Amino acid sequence: MKLYEPQTIRYIKNKYGFRFSKSLGQNFLTDVSVINGIVSGAEITKSDLVVEIGPGIGVLTTACADAAGYVMSIEIDRELEPVLAETLTGYENIEIIFGDALKTDISALRAEHPELTGFKIVGNLPYYITTPILTHLVEADTGADSITIMMQKEVADRISAPAGSRDCGAISICVQYRCEIERVLEVGKEAFMPQPKVDSAVLKLIPRKEPAVKVKDEKLFFEIVKAGFSQRRKTLRNSLKTTGRSREDIDRFLEAAGIEGERRAETLTLEEFAALADAFCGGKA
Ligand code: SAM
Repeated sequence: MKLYEPQTIRYIKNKYGFRFSKSLGQNFLTDVSVINGIVSGAEITKSDLVVEIGPGIGVLTTACADAAGYVMSIEIDRELEPVLAETLTGYENIEIIFGDALKTDISALRAEHPELTGFKIVGNLPYYITTPILTHLVEADTGADSITIMMQKEVADRISAPAGSRDCGAISICVQYRCEIERVLEVGKEAFMPQPKVDSAVLKLIPRKEPAVKVKDEKLFFEIVKAGFSQRRKTLRNSLKTTGRSREDIDRFLEAAGIEGERRAETLTLEEFAALADAFCGGKA
C-alpha cells in the first residue's frame, strides 16, 4: 500500500469512515517527489530523532522513519488512531503522540532520546495554525538542528520578507532573530488531497548559534515585536500601547532607542527592534 496514492486515501476513508477535517487543515500529500524533497531537504540521517507535527495518515512519517533513527509524531485528531495503527504497521521506530502540538513540550520529547545525536523537526503544517506553531517552535528554542516545514506560500513569503520591508510581520522578525532561512521547495495545490485553494512552499529554518541581534530579555523582545505589529496600520506610538505601558513611558522608550514614534513596525530593522526592547527592559518597573 503506497500511502501517497489517492486510492489509498479513498480506501482509508471507506474502511474507517474517515472524513477530512477542514478545521484541522487536513490536506494530505499525494506527490511522492514532494515527500522525498522534504526528507532530503531536512537532511535526515540514522543518528537523528525527528519530531513531526501532524502525521495525517503517515505519509511523511514513514518517509522520515526510513531515513531517521526514530520519529515522534504529534497528531491532534484521535480519529486517525486506528488508521495510523494500520498504516504504520511494521515500523519499530515511530511513536505517535496524540495531542496538540501547540501544547507539547518539544524539548521534553528530545530529552527522551539522548542516544540520538541529531534532532530535526519536520511537518506539513495545517494552514490554520502555521504561524502559532512556528512561533511556538521558534520561541521555545527547542535545540533542533533544523525545522523543515511546509506552509502556505504566502506565509513562507512573509517569513522570508526582510525586516524593514512592507511584507514583513511579527513572525518574520521572530524567525529571523533565531534562524537562517532556506527555501527548499515550491509546491502546487495539486500535490494534496483534498486540494487546498492556495499553493505551498517548504522552508528550512536553521537555528543560529547566536541570535541575529543581542537583546537583554528575549521574552520582552518577542513581546515588543508582537505589540508593534498588533495593529499594522497604526504608528508604533499607538500599537505599543498594547504592552499596557503609559504613553509617557512609550515615548521615553522610543526616544531612548532613537526611533520616531510615527514610524510603523514594518519599517524597523532587527537592530531597531532590539534597541526598542532593551529600552523597555531598562524601564521595567
Ligand atoms: N503529514 C500529513 C501529510 O503530509 O499528508 C498530514 C498533513 S495535514 C496538512 C496536517 C495534519 O496536522 C493533520 O493530520 C491534522 O489532523 C494535524 N493537526 C492539526 N492541528 C494540529 C495540532 N494542533 N497539533 C497536532 N496536529 C495537528
